Amino acid sequence: MPAFASSGDLEEKQQTLEIVGDGVYALTAEGDPNVGAIEADDFLVCFEAMATPTAARQWLARLREHTDKPIRYLVLSHYHAVRVLGASAFGADVIVSHANTRALIEERGQQDWESEYGRMPRLFKDPGSIPGLTLPTLTFTDRLAIDLGGGRFLELHHLGRGHTEGDIVAWLPDERILFAGDLVEARAALYTGDAFHREWSTTTLDRVAALGARTLIGGRGPVTREVGAAIRQTRDFLEVMLREVGAAHGRGGTLKEAFDAAHAALAPRYGGWPIFEHCLPFNVSRLWDELDGVERPIIWTAERDRAVWDLLQS
Ligand SMILES: [Zn+2]
Repeated sequence: MPAFASSGDLEEKQQTLEIVGDGVYALTAEGDPNVGAIEADDFLVCFEAMATPTAARQWLARLREHTDKPIRYLVLSHYHAVRVLGASAFGADVIVSHANTRALIEERGQQDWESEYGRMPRLFKDPGSIPGLTLPTLTFTDRLAIDLGGGRFLELHHLGRGHTEGDIVAWLPDERILFAGDLVEARAALYTGDAFHREWSTTTLDRVAALGARTLIGGRGPVTREVGAAIRQTRDFLEVMLREVGAAHGRGGTLKEAFDAAHAALAPRYGGWPIFEHCLPFNVSRLWDELDGVERPIIWTAERDRAVWDLLQS
């Protein structure tokens, strides 16, 4: 059996800071979670918080080589631990998320912390630096615009359920730059263990595409100007899962059969991409539940992670 999730992936990844527009920064890391920042006239908006305050401080040290503006807003694209637990390091005046994200942190943030720490220990740099769960202080359900000054706005949009039930994207309409969170990945596998596959693969991705971005920073993978291709890849991954898992489910097969079929269909194109083997058991398990009519994703715990892994990756 392969090492559990990403617990065997301990090699440090190379981080790349890219200035993707005037005062717009993206830090990517060979398939590790991406983060970003947007300069307003007299403050900063940071996008995503990393897994620990220590990891976040390393990112902020790099950002500080370019700007010393104070951080007014920290935007969290969704509730996952590796995206939010570094929040305290930013010292932001306002922490923004979708209302569902705040509710999810309250409902299952603790279990998600333990689950993700077990799955991806390397991302939890200095785990003792996490002070506990940090809750968003400003939430919305549809759309929120942040005035950057000089007639520029950063728009935060909820485009439907997808990777979670509270995903938001950050959109710079003038520069046509999109921070997509985990709704779109660029040459990295999808994690769908908390997803709404049918909604994500249809209306939600349609709305992402309709923004008309020229530059996209996905949840993982490099900054891309081939936005259409990244969205198509994300949709294709979901559609293959829906087709293969749906077929096994529809004929009364087993979860293991569904996993094997999805793995065989996805691996030729996506098997070499970051976190593919790690994610697939959790993905198939959630999709199976979704097809069973389980509306909200079941909470992942460290114990449930191991049970699903042992069942499917054996
Ligand atoms: Zn996520």
